[in-house]
Amino acid sequence: MKIALIAHDKKKNDIIEIAKTYKDVLAGHELYATGTTGTLIMGETGLPIHRMKSGPLGGDQQIGAMLANGELDLIIFLRDPLTAQPHEPDVSALLRLGDVQKIPLATNSSSAVIMLEALKNNIYFN
Ligand code: PGA
Repeated sequence: MKIALIAHDKKKNDIIEIAKTYKDVLAGHELYATGTTGTLIMGETGLPIHRMKSGPLGGDQQIGAMLANGELDLIIFLRDPLTAQPHEPDVSALLRLGDVQKIPLATNSSSAVIMLEALKNNIYFN
């Protein structure tokens, strides 16, 4: 599967912890990420990741374009609901396209864990 990983700044530690915990599961898939998130996860886990531009510089839109083209199977996007984001329109567009394509899309760490557990146990949910 093709999996995208994104986290707003205050959620970066959370996505790193999740990536470490599920490293073996993620290793079996093709991973994509926005720039900073991808760099951090690669540094902490050694997982190979295709990195897009940083989110505020167009990375969310690049992930969105992949979604629109049917090129992603699962997205973990740990968004920060308590901080205004300069690229909020890009964030909303990505979430909307996820629903258009009916792609499993976790926006918080609890949902992400459930999806990765499903992946680990070969539960098909797409
Ligand atoms: P980043 O982008 O991984 O480059 O920080 C994430 C985002 O803010 O969408």
